[in-house]
Amino acid sequence: MDIDKFKKVCKHAVQYFGETSRKQLAQEECAELIQALSKDLRGKKHNVEEEIADVLIMIEQLFNIYDMEKMNNNLNMKIDRLDKLME
Ligand SMILES: [Mg+2]
Repeated sequence: MDIDKFKKVCKHAVQYFGETSRKQLAQEECAELIQALSKDLRGKKHNVEEEIADVLIMIEQLFNIYDMEKMNNNLNMKIDRLDKLME
């Protein structure tokens, strides 16, 4: 994946479609991932890989909407906590 293009297109999408649209679509894509994971866990045909891609794209767009410093602080704290859980 071209990470620079990924970030550039996601940033442009927020400007082009607007924050409210992106928040609504993020909700929809998260719901679709939940549904796909549920199908997988029940042994049914699923599209988890596609829905992960959709959610990742929406997460990157949300990064362009919400407070980056707060998100970075939370990411650091939570990844440290996860790391400690495995010690
Ligand atoms: Mg989807």
